[in-house]
Amino acid sequence: MNKAIEQQKIEDVVIVGSGPAGYTAALYASRADLKPLMIEGFLWGGLLQETTDVENYPGFPEGIQGPELMQKMRDQAERFGTRFITDNATKVELSHDGGLHRVYVGDDVHVARTVILSMGAKHRKLGVPGEEELSARGISFCATCDAAFFRDRRIAVIGGGDSAMEEAIFLSKFGSSVTVVHRRDEFRASQIMIDRAREIEHLDFLTPYTVERFEAGEHGALSKVVLAHAETGEQKELEVDGVFIAIGHEPSSELVQGQVETDENGYVLTAGKSTRTNLEGVFAAGDVVDHIYRQAVTAAGSGTQAALDAEWYLRDRPPDPNEHWAADPAKIEAAAEEAAARSA
Ligand code: NAP
Repeated sequence: MNKAIEQQKIEDVVIVGSGPAGYTAALYASRADLKPLMIEGFLWGGLLQETTDVENYPGFPEGIQGPELMQKMRDQAERFGTRFITDNATKVELSHDGGLHRVYVGDDVHVARTVILSMGAKHRKLGVPGEEELSARGISFCATCDAAFFRDRRIAVIGGGDSAMEEAIFLSKFGSSVTVVHRRDEFRASQIMIDRAREIEHLDFLTPYTVERFEAGEHGALSKVVLAHAETGEQKELEVDGVFIAIGHEPSSELVQGQVETDENGYVLTAGKSTRTNLEGVFAAGDVVDHIYRQAVTAAGSGTQAALDAEWYLRDRPPDPNEHWAADPAKIEAAAEEAAARSA
């Protein structure tokens, strides 16, 4: 075929990201016969891949392991025809006028009438020396994943919100001591969580201190946190075996920053109770939108909504009969260059 007229298939639905929101959107979109294409990421499955027992996902009275739950969701979407690309989306070009959207995986471009954004969230980092280097060598972002490694060890938790309290309370069942380090004297956590933490004998609070850096000991594992008093700057060293950083999450919305409307923290904004973004044919679900509930089951519910919103959008805008295939500008350009080179 002449490369100049080589054309690109148009997908009805491309889903970017693969936590409970993405897989559930894929399940519903496949059952609606929309044959969704999911760019699920190289490390598919989202934050649930890091958890062990999930005991609050309805339908599993004995609990289920996070990775197993994600595998089941993926299998269910696949059973009804979802196609997967197990790689990261590298660029997204969203149409601003209800036209076709483009999702890139490296040099491959996928053209779609609708896009469902379900990239989830990631742990916020402190950004101090030693944090990257000592991750998994004493520094963790997930108490449920790693608490068991710190049985009878000295643990610090960084943060002052509900997550920090929850992690500290959980970790107190393992560690010989747990110190919650927070940058202010007041906590953002709810009073009930603070009270529960205060009741635990070997759990104490160190405020107002910020983390300057993490240092390794003889065996290359974390041995010390260097802190600075938030007001006086006075330094303090805390000897620990494990540190859990629980300073909140950040939405993984970098791909679409500047294209869809987000709030000041980068969470994608959706209209009312729907999953509609400010761009026609672009929907968003799960933790990339939600900074309040952040549960697997609420994410899955919003994935359902996104698939239904996409289905209704497509139903109300039947494709132009001549628009089954879209010209791929990159290929046309390459073909033109090739033709020019041949005739030169
Ligand atoms: P959060 O409420 O945003 O709290 C983050 C904490 O980390 C704050 O205390 C903040 O300090 C601190 N922090 C942020 N950036 C920092 C930095 N660079 N250096 C040092 N400290 C930093 O986040 P979250 O605790 O993850 O909670 C998120 C949402 O989930 C909340 O709505 C929470 O209620 C909910 N949640 C509920 C439960 C529960 O009820 N069981 C459990 C977990 C989470 P400042 O206070 O100084 O800003």
